[in-house]
Amino acid sequence: MANFRFVALEQTIDRQVKKVEYPSNKISDYYGSMVFNQATMKEYLTKEAFTVVMEAIEKGIRIDRKITDQIASAMKAWATNKGATHYTHWFHPLTGSTAEKHDAFINPNSNGTAIEEFQGGALIQQEPDASSFPSGGIRSTFEARGYTAWDPTSPAFIIDETLCIPTIFVSYTGESLDYKTPLLRSIKALDEIGTKVLKMFDKNIGKVYPTLGWEQEYFLVDNALYSARADLVLTGKTVFGHSSAKDQQLSDHYFGTINRRALAFMQELEIESHKLGIPIKTRHNEVAPSQFECAPVYEEANIAVDHNQLLMHLLDTVAKRHDFKVLMHEKPYAGVNGSGKHNNWSLATDNGLNLLSPGKNKKENFRFIAVLANILKAVHENEELLRASIASAGNDLRLGANEAPPAIISVFVGEQITGTLDSIEKLSSKEALSSSNGNSGSLGFPKIPEILLDNTDRNRTSPFAFTGNKFEFRAVGSAANTAKPMFVLNSIMAQQLHKFKVEVDELIVKGQKKDDAIFDVTKRYIIESKNIRFEGNSYSEEWVKEAAKRGLSNNKATPEALKAFISDKTVKMFSELDVMSRKELEARYEIKMEKYIKKIQIEARVMGDVAINHILPTAIKYQNRLVENTMGLKNVLDSKTYIKLSRNQINTIKQISEHISAVKELVDEMVAARKVANKIEDITQQGFAYRNEVVKYFEPIRKHVDDLELLIDNELWPLPKYRELLFLK
Ligand code: ADP
Ligand code: MG
Repeated sequence: MANFRFVALEQTIDRQVKKVEYPSNKISDYYGSMVFNQATMKEYLTKEAFTVVMEAIEKGIRIDRKITDQIASAMKAWATNKGATHYTHWFHPLTGSTAEKHDAFINPNSNGTAIEEFQGGALIQQEPDASSFPSGGIRSTFEARGYTAWDPTSPAFIIDETLCIPTIFVSYTGESLDYKTPLLRSIKALDEIGTKVLKMFDKNIGKVYPTLGWEQEYFLVDNALYSARADLVLTGKTVFGHSSAKDQQLSDHYFGTINRRALAFMQELEIESHKLGIPIKTRHNEVAPSQFECAPVYEEANIAVDHNQLLMHLLDTVAKRHDFKVLMHEKPYAGVNGSGKHNNWSLATDNGLNLLSPGKNKKENFRFIAVLANILKAVHENEELLRASIASAGNDLRLGANEAPPAIISVFVGEQITGTLDSIEKLSSKEALSSSNGNSGSLGFPKIPEILLDNTDRNRTSPFAFTGNKFEFRAVGSAANTAKPMFVLNSIMAQQLHKFKVEVDELIVKGQKKDDAIFDVTKRYIIESKNIRFEGNSYSEEWVKEAAKRGLSNNKATPEALKAFISDKTVKMFSELDVMSRKELEARYEIKMEKYIKKIQIEARVMGDVAINHILPTAIKYQNRLVENTMGLKNVLDSKTYIKLSRNQINTIKQISEHISAVKELVDEMVAARKVANKIEDITQQGFAYRNEVVKYFEPIRKHVDDLELLIDNELWPLPKYRELLFLK
């Protein structure tokens, strides 16, 4: 029987760098060419239809049926010109990936011919047979009705000759079954209240919207080596593997020269991204060997979320053409860094402001500080929910593992902002707002130093860091759908701004001047939310203790983190904002818990299978050789020499036996623990059973197997080793 590891290694020997053909030497020539964007719409739509679509995008105004027919036919004309034959509603079901069901444009005629057809009805709504998407009990399988509805705010695009129409996915009774619906609702909620609040500062503000710039980390691994590892194929991570003698300790990969094969892959990824209007701008090596990152220019959050989902799809498909596999898992390899997806988040306005940019004058700084104080307060009040928004079995392995921010949410604002906030605490509104027009400190609104922009992005250990003109939510996992942290962030901010407005208005009614009222509430928020601010090393043990003293949560694993989704406080907030109902939240809780359970269950099964059916037989085979050899020695050596020289060998035989027996015992115990857990009906209890009674076997089993890897003949070892996986040819 062939050893798949060597078959795979042989395949990697003649890997060639694939030549990348650029469609043109100017990116602008093909940028957005596969997107039904504004420019294309203008070309294909009547003036009337174009105006209607723009209003739908900007103001959320409903599109009339007559117009949707026009739009559909324009989309079809454009798409068929570009070679598309099919169309699909493209959505983000709660499975975590994206879903499509392709329909051809053709419609048969009675005379045996067919015409191309795509009408408004098919554009705005579809009813996929969606019975096997997770719904958390919202939609029972016997009434498998869910429908997708067009989201005109995200442009349609073409992938693989298919016109993809971004849609939401809801049940027949209107409950969301996807990630996009709550995201869109949160954006709406934030705009409604945000505009009201920001008008207090600037009458010209007519819209407030969140912006998102994500940074996507991932690993590349050779496709052949990947295929030779059942754990990678089935779980996206390695469950075994002794660390390589050299991995990231020299930090020579980070920002190093990019491997030629990887570079060709990235170039093609960028071409495909640019055609789809994804503004990818940055690419570089990350800390671990074969780990990379790419990041676009930030966009309006809904579009950025769609673009991230699309990018993850492209990563996968483009990698195949380069004989790579992309690992999106948060922790594919033990002992080297895992992958995250930093979410850079800010708030923008229709008149071109970034609300998180410190201003140039007193007025602008006043607004900036008020917005900042609301964010601090919102994060402080909802830190546990934010933690829940990034919870997954994969991310559990990163958070708190001394490489990624911990499971404790805190906010880093940097020295300068801290100074400003501290000085505000000591000022009365009169002092702060005094008309002396200076922006210079003592009298007048505290100055925010100009060096700020260069100087803030220094604390890499903070899960939520202010980086000059945006917040960077760093604890998000690489495989996550960014809609999750985004809809939570938008919602807690919307709720906070509601409170802010109420509290300011109350003071005004009591006779305070508007600016004084705003200042007083802002100052109070700064003081009340102080506990969420932490400037030190978030990876340290001291912070864990300090955070506990401050009453901040530290939910290390998904089962305990998720409960924040269904707390009364959360339910109240989301229902008041019309973002999610109790039913929807409970459904989501159930889906997430179930997903956690299944992921752990699969990992445990793979571990058991590989250990028992691949590792132990290999260990026994090698041990037999040693036994044979030892017996042979006994025949040829005199007994004194034999006793002296065979000691080490016999010791190795013993060690192997001990590992074999330990692996077998631990796997049996783990299987028994799984059986017990599987019988539990309550999903929460089952989640905790997996977390407490099953996961605990992973490390010890792994330890024995990884020790065996060092003992056993390299030629027999069946799994590609870390040194082979981590360094690209
Ligand atoms: P890094 O964090 O790697 O030092 P940058 O801080 O330059 O890199 O930017 C990281 C990401 O932040 C980019 O995707 C960028 O587009 C995004 N970003 C910059 N400004 C904003 C903003 N106002 N809102 C959201 N994202 C932003
Ligand atoms: Mg960053």
